Amino acid sequence: PYPTDIREYLYKILVIGDLGTGKTSIIKRYVHNIFSLNYKSTIGVDFALKVIQWSPDTVVRMQLWDIAGQEKFSGLTRVYYKEAVAALIVYDVSRPKTLESVPMWKTDLDSKVTLPGGDPIPVVLLANKTDLQDETSGGLNPEEMDTFCEENGFLKWFGTSAKDNSNIEDATRFLLEEIMNKE
Ligand code: GDP
Ligand code: MG
Repeated sequence: PYPTDIREYLYKILVIGDLGTGKTSIIKRYVHNIFSLNYKSTIGVDFALKVIQWSPDTVVRMQLWDIAGQEKFSGLTRVYYKEAVAALIVYDVSRPKTLESVPMWKTDLDSKVTLPGGDPIPVVLLANKTDLQDETSGGLNPEEMDTFCEENGFLKWFGTSAKDNSNIEDATRFLLEEIMNKE
């Protein structure tokens, strides 16, 4: 097709969750396919852009927002959430405490951003660091995880590992499909 036939979408997607759960690692893995044992937690907001050829005539730019160093605050500012169309909430399966924080992150998000029509934005839960522990997802078995997702308004959960590059593509693809279905 001619360039004028190409549709482009830009989506702001938030990646939130407790400190050290692997948010930055997941973004770096997804966007640059790299993994490191220490990412300095920079203060402020960090973006990464992933450009996807969604179909022959559709290009999607995913702008992933990393909450760098703001995890200690009880909630983020409305400005930060503004115009986000989807989110990934991340916890660390080797630290069950980080799963306990998940409902807080979800509630904060839902109270501060919605889709233009007023519906909550689509959110996927990432149970990260499955390479460290794959018996349970931080204390819950898969059925309990499904229930947790239903109760807390998550579309779905994925066990991921930024270290092993496991399931991150699947999770983001699923989320993007949800977004694109609404277009
Ligand atoms: P953030 O604070 O949520 O951004 O977390 P980071 O991405 O900085 O990761 C915190 C630590 O966990 C770092 O030492 C990472 O190397 C490590 N990490 C992140 N993801 C994984 C993973 O999937 N598996 C393992 N084993 N370590 C991980
Ligand atoms: Mg980080």
